[in-house]
Amino acid sequence: MTDPGGRGVIDLRSDTVTRPSPAMRQAIADAEVGDDVYGEDPTVTALENRVAALLGHEAGVFTPTGSMANQLGLRLLVRPGQEVVCDDDAHVVRAELGAAAALSGITTRTWKAPRGLLDLDDVQRIIRPDAGPYLVSTAAVAVEDTHNFGGGTIQPLETLKALRSLADENGLALHLDGARVWNAHVATGVALADIGSLFDTVSVCLSKGLGAPVGSVLVSSAARIAEARVWRKRLGAGMRQVGVLAAAGLYALDHNLERLADDHTNARLIADAIAAAAPGVVTPEHVETNIVPLDLTTHRLDARGLADAAAAQGVRVSALGPQFCRLVTHLDVDRAAAEEASGVLAGLLAS
Ligand SMILES: *Cc1c(COP(=O)(O)O)cnc(C)c1O
Repeated sequence: MTDPGGRGVIDLRSDTVTRPSPAMRQAIADAEVGDDVYGEDPTVTALENRVAALLGHEAGVFTPTGSMANQLGLRLLVRPGQEVVCDDDAHVVRAELGAAAALSGITTRTWKAPRGLLDLDDVQRIIRPDAGPYLVSTAAVAVEDTHNFGGGTIQPLETLKALRSLADENGLALHLDGARVWNAHVATGVALADIGSLFDTVSVCLSKGLGAPVGSVLVSSAARIAEARVWRKRLGAGMRQVGVLAAAGLYALDHNLERLADDHTNARLIADAIAAAAPGVVTPEHVETNIVPLDLTTHRLDARGLADAAAAQGVRVSALGPQFCRLVTHLDVDRAAAEEASGVLAGLLAS
């Protein structure tokens, strides 16, 4: 990777690329641990209880990845041969490699959601609860907040409340893929519990914007989480002295939650610079959190072209489609780096 000027590569590919800080590593070193398969790791238990309480749920289970937390959640809500419905850019259907079908016998149907924004008409149109022996019965709806491929989009609380009513009227369960629900909370000021308690199961990631090296938590009722523990072990993720990782998650909640606001400011700064240089590539008002989606459909550069040219100037971005790039700000990109990256990207995109 080219590093012009020796300022270090600015990596905007994802908020997963952060490395644990010295203070987080100290928390890891100091963690009190035990065998978590015996339920004896106090740090894991503390993390699970803390995340459950934050999200307005009874219990939580620590998982190695967000994908596992999502898949445990779906399995709790949907029986084999039933379906979960969601938008067609949802992580659970695009980025988990068919896990719901491969592991749990769950089928999916999807709707298109511009920017990943939930529209209850789509849900209403697609659901088929109790379809009898004729059609696949819908058991659950999965929602992503914030929406990753949608560009960090926040689902309005009023829409989520209305979705809860719709689900109750139709006997459906709700799963929240809350990998970045932290960002929605910080950007809007809506309490995490006000979002989380609308759902039957919620997954959250500690390894995205919060900056922990590993880890997610699934929260739900105590009964469901007890069942999730059985499936976690069955899938091979019963972990032993894993308090060393849970300690990083607790540290992240203490120190890295409120600072997500800086990532949002930096994302907007980058979006503003790009929009000024290349109108139409990004709509800054749509950049609500830490993700900047770039639509290159009408630009002379395609996604690969932009990613390669930016990399040559020490800025890494993700080419997620032929004409779609994603930039993500995070705790290893400070304001100066965001300004530097803005200059490089605006320079490349200016026509
Ligand atoms: C990252 C992410 C996940 C979980 O990903 P893992 O890599 O399995 O931890 C789930 N949902 C969304 C929206 C994500 O961005």
